[in-house]
This record gives sequence, C-alpha cells and structure tokens, in this order.
Amino acid sequence: MTTTVDTGLLADLQKFGAADVTACFSCGNCTAICPLADNDATFPRRVIRYAQVGMKDDLLGSKELWTCYHCGLCSESCPTEADPGEFMATARRYAVASYDPTGLARILYTRPVLGTAIAVLVAAFFGTFMLTAGGLGNQDTTQLALFDFVPEGLIHWTGIGVMVLLALAGVIGIGRMMRQVARRDGESLATTVHGREAWGRTLRAAWDSIGVESLGQKRFRDDCHDDQPVEPLYRRRWVLHALSIWGFLGLFVATISDWGLALLHVKATGTPVPIWYPTRLLGTVAGLALMYGVTMFMVGRRRRWSASAATSTGSDWMLLALLWITGATGFLIEVALYLPPAPAWGYWVFLLHVSVAMELMLLLPFTKFAHVMYRPVALFFYSLAKQKRAASA
Ligand code: SF4
Ligand code: SF4
Repeated sequence: MTTTVDTGLLADLQKFGAADVTACFSCGNCTAICPLADNDATFPRRVIRYAQVGMKDDLLGSKELWTCYHCGLCSESCPTEADPGEFMATARRYAVASYDPTGLARILYTRPVLGTAIAVLVAAFFGTFMLTAGGLGNQDTTQLALFDFVPEGLIHWTGIGVMVLLALAGVIGIGRMMRQVARRDGESLATTVHGREAWGRTLRAAWDSIGVESLGQKRFRDDCHDDQPVEPLYRRRWVLHALSIWGFLGLFVATISDWGLALLHVKATGTPVPIWYPTRLLGTVAGLALMYGVTMFMVGRRRRWSASAATSTGSDWMLLALLWITGATGFLIEVALYLPPAPAWGYWVFLLHVSVAMELMLLLPFTKFAHVMYRPVALFFYSLAKQKRAASA
C-alpha cells in the first residue's frame, strides 16, 4: 500500500475547528489518559500524527475518529495545550466534509454566513414549493384541517423525494468512508469478515455498534467520566445525547406509524385523537425528550459547560436550531389541533414544521447529524477488530 503525503492537510484541517496540534510532540499522555482508547483503537496521538505528517488517507480511514466522545480529559492532560479533544472533533468535521462529494458540508462547516443563508433558503424553498404546488388552501377555523391547507399527498411525495436524496447521499458518503477504512485496515479486517464464523462476528459487530453503543450509549455512559460526579444526572452529556437520539427516533417512528395507520384506513393523518392514543403518546413523549436534550445542549454550548461545548461551529448551531424548531413547532401544532376554535396561525406553524423537518432530513449527511451515519459504521469495524484480537489472544 502506497502512502500519499498531503502537505496542506494540517492547514486545511484548521479551517474546521480551533485545535492547533503543531505544538504536539507525541508524548502520548493523551492516549494514556483517554478512557476509550485501547489496543483496538489507539488515539488521539496516532490521529494527530497522521495530521502532522500529512497522511490524509490514513486519517480519513481511522475508525478511531468516531470512537471518541469528546470528553476533553486528554486536553486537560496535554503539556503543550494542543487540545487533542478538540482536534478529534475538528478531524470528524473534516472527515464528514471529505466523504461528502457535493462540497456542501465543507461550506456549512467553514463558511458560517453562507451556510446560514443556504439553510434559510432551503427552508424557504420547501415552504414556497408546497404553497405554490398545493395552492393556498382552505383555512377552516372551526377545526384545523391541515391537509386542506397543504395536501397530504404533496407532503408525502416531497418527503419520499427527500428520503431518496438522503439515502443517495448517505450511501455515497458511507461508501467513501468504508473505502478509506478498508484501504487502511483491509488486510486485518479481511480475515475477520471471511471464513466460517464470519456471520456470527458480523452480526455481533452490528449489535455492538447499533444496539449496545449507538442506542445503549454504553461506553459514553460507563467510561466517559468527564462530567461525573460533578454534573447532576439531568445535565450529564450521555443523558442529553441519549434523550436527543431516542427522542428523534421516537418522533420518526410515530410519524411513520401515523402514515401506516392512514394507509390501513385506521385513522386519517392529522385527525384529533386522545392523548393516550399510541402514536400521539409516543410522539408527545419522544418530542419532550428531544426538546429537553436539544435545549440543554444549546444552553450548554452557550455557557460552555464542557470541553465539547467550548468550541461551536455555525453548523453545530444550525443542527440544534433545526431540531429545536422541528420539536417546538410540532408541539404548537398539537396545541392548535385541540384548540376551539382553530387558530389561523396553526396552518402557518404547520407549514414551517413540515419545511424545517424536510430540510433537517435533506441536510443530514452534511451537518453534525451525519454522525448518526458514520459512527455506527466505525463502531462496527471497531467491534470486528476487538473480536479478531480476542480470537487470536
Ligand atoms: S498529550 Fe499533547 S503533546 Fe502529548 S501526544 Fe497528546 S496532544 Fe501531543
Ligand atoms: S476527548 Fe475524551 S474520548 Fe476523545 S480522545 Fe480525548 S480523552 Fe479520549
């Protein structure tokens, strides 16, 4: 395997964050203190070294980038104040932009004013498109009839179009990431994913990455002790992270289920139902979880509660803002739906909600939201590497 050296790598990386690792002299303190680094994923010193010597392909093929949860312990132990924790976050932003073939992620991360303008324009496009394609429909004030205002079929097909684009961008991005990982670790992984026991190892790795780590947050919860016991439970990062993820997934499942019930002619979408109706109850609980997690993250970033909140990019704020607006407008629609008489503002809040939700999904591969695509893949390879080492021990 040939290694290409990119002499501009470090300078390019620095456009994505505040870390300056030129002062790092590879003492290894950061790797020694990191609670998540082990023989199967040695970081952050190794990844910093890749950046210093211009080994771009090795950096982009490092599953280690995604096994870090930015607790900041390494930064506290660095004798040269090179801030390795922030470097890992910066390198993840750089990786998201490098896996994206459109160049949009790079703009969102490195040009905040242009990125914000794009975000506003995308939401305005969805709103205008739905209004003009559906026509300014009936605004009944006896009871909110949302789909008389924006036709249900239009939202449905626009949503499917967005999901297709999202899937396409996701597949391309993950494909590029996997090519880099295979290039760097392919030889060792090949013996892990082939052979008689390959299926068992692959399924176990999938469970470890999605069930145990992404949904269960095991290592984030058990090993990242940066904010414990200082922070009360309701402010701990893993709790906020988990509530945001579970809340978003819960809302997604509630929305899909509601469409499913409409298809089965059980209940038309948007029809008022009691609070204990399963899809409404799930949506309400998940919405509360999402709003709590996202609001606390915003407050934490504003007040710089932790190392991970010390530096924020425009893209970080954009993602939090889109999630918050989606959650808040969802609750406002719920209020408007049950108010007699139906308030006219309910229709416009509905249009804002749908436009921002579409934008959130469309921009997923280009913002920090892309972590939901890349982290499980990296954790999958991490689990395979761990299993291989255990088998050969
Ligand atoms: S502790 Fe600081 S100087 Fe030492 S390897 Fe890590 S980043 Fe470099
Ligand atoms: S920020 Fe925390 S998890 Fe990430 S490399 Fe540093 S010590 Fe490890």
